[in-house]
Amino acid sequence: MVNYKLTEKCINLLKSRGVELRDIADCVMFLQSKYVPNLSIEECEAAVRSVLEKNEVQNAILTGIAVDIMAEEGKLPYEELQSMLCNDEPLYGLDEVVAYGICNLYGSIALTNFGYIDKEKIGIISKLNNHEGPQVNTFLDDIVGAIAASAASKIAHGGKRIDVDL
Ligand code: MG
Repeated sequence: MVNYKLTEKCINLLKSRGVELRDIADCVMFLQSKYVPNLSIEECEAAVRSVLEKNEVQNAILTGIAVDIMAEEGKLPYEELQSMLCNDEPLYGLDEVVAYGICNLYGSIALTNFGYIDKEKIGIISKLNNHEGPQVNTFLDDIVGAIAASAASKIAHGGKRIDVDL
């Protein structure tokens, strides 16, 4: 059963960290438009929303953003962890593992798309990755990439074609 209250909380949490559903939908469009003729941004956004309704995805968002916030507030109990997360240390690796956890729910197309989008760093992913200022996005950029890759997989499998009045 979908927990709509938690879904909305996650959407608002993403917003508070600078990520709109439309930003993630733009990444889905980038990944899928060459394979799905006439794909609309509304369909991409609907697929993103349906990924966000999954409980495991919500747990990943809550956990990842909580750790990012603790890192930026200097509240992590171990100096080693604090510095790895604040510097987005490439060998830390657990941020990607959380992302794989999301992609694993949506199969191999999600996983390969995640690898692609993580390398290409398009749109909101590059914005999160290159941002200036104190906000820590170590987990967030991978989680957003995984949500986009999973929504792309959902569309590839034909799970979220909707009728859109244009
Ligand atoms: Mg990261």
